[in-house]
Amino acid sequence: MKFDTAYCLSLDEKLSIYDVRELNFDETADFDSDTDSFLCPNDACRAAFKASNTLSTFNAKNVNYQRTPHFKNKTGTQHIDGCRYASTHKGTDGENEDDREDNFPSEFVLTRRTYPRKASTVNTEGQPPQDPTKTPPTRIGTSVSGSDATPDKTSVFAHPVECYVSNIDDKDKLKSMPLKIGEHTATYWTFFKKIEYLQDNKGLIYWGKIKEIKDYTNSFRIDFEKKVWLDKKPYSVNVYLSKKLIDNYRKRKAFLEQIKAAVASERALYCFFYGVTPELKQVPSKKNPEQTFGVFSANIENLDHLIVREVPGAEEL
Ligand SMILES: [Zn+2]
Repeated sequence: MKFDTAYCLSLDEKLSIYDVRELNFDETADFDSDTDSFLCPNDACRAAFKASNTLSTFNAKNVNYQRTPHFKNKTGTQHIDGCRYASTHKGTDGENEDDREDNFPSEFVLTRRTYPRKASTVNTEGQPPQDPTKTPPTRIGTSVSGSDATPDKTSVFAHPVECYVSNIDDKDKLKSMPLKIGEHTATYWTFFKKIEYLQDNKGLIYWGKIKEIKDYTNSFRIDFEKKVWLDKKPYSVNVYLSKKLIDNYRKRKAFLEQIKAAVASERALYCFFYGVTPELKQVPSKKNPEQTFGVFSANIENLDHLIVREVPGAEEL
């Protein structure tokens, strides 16, 4: 049984596993999923058991994951009758289940979610209170609704990308799932655009196989394998990540770990980004600086909206 959300004890908030990853990698957040506790998101179910009746996380901290991150039951995690998170089968607990992300958020929110700590949830020693489930401390009414409904929005780019990647062989599914970004509503299928077709429409999530990542130590350029055709001529495509952008990134360490591993990797890697559309620019030729040549290029403006990862099955498309 994969959980789309879990109740996070220290934050007194329901989080997706992608929120948890955000918090783990955020160098400005005081958060470590290994020392936190995650409980059933069903309020009634959670209230029926002690705070030690926890779930475990899968791929909460792995920068370069291949299998879909999720929460899952531990051996012995209990649920009340009728809780939709109660495991339906005995024995295996998720490891061999279908490895797809099936919680498709219907909106990718461009402003980052904040995760404020609510006062008095955790005492100063960092120990959870004895039974936080029974008497919610000064709960602020604006927080998540009381239902255990699957959250429908995310601000973590990795979430819609994982939906797309893990269902990449299921075109019908991707065509049937709606996605809203900003003012634009489409389906997952149409929002994800292969880089070679970027001229088709602006404002999409572009993605493609990486040909090479140029490591300039403090900045990087990601070159795509496929070219864009314009007036019967092929043009290379790249995106540039500036030193300033990286230095100011709150997940700088995790980002550098990811991109440096990608530079050194022998495996096929893909880059996904949102927010900019590469445009034709004239750049000086290296061999002959007097000459220029055309390239489709963009400067990435927000590292939260860029991902480098493997895409199992992409080669067959
Ligand atoms: Zn439950």
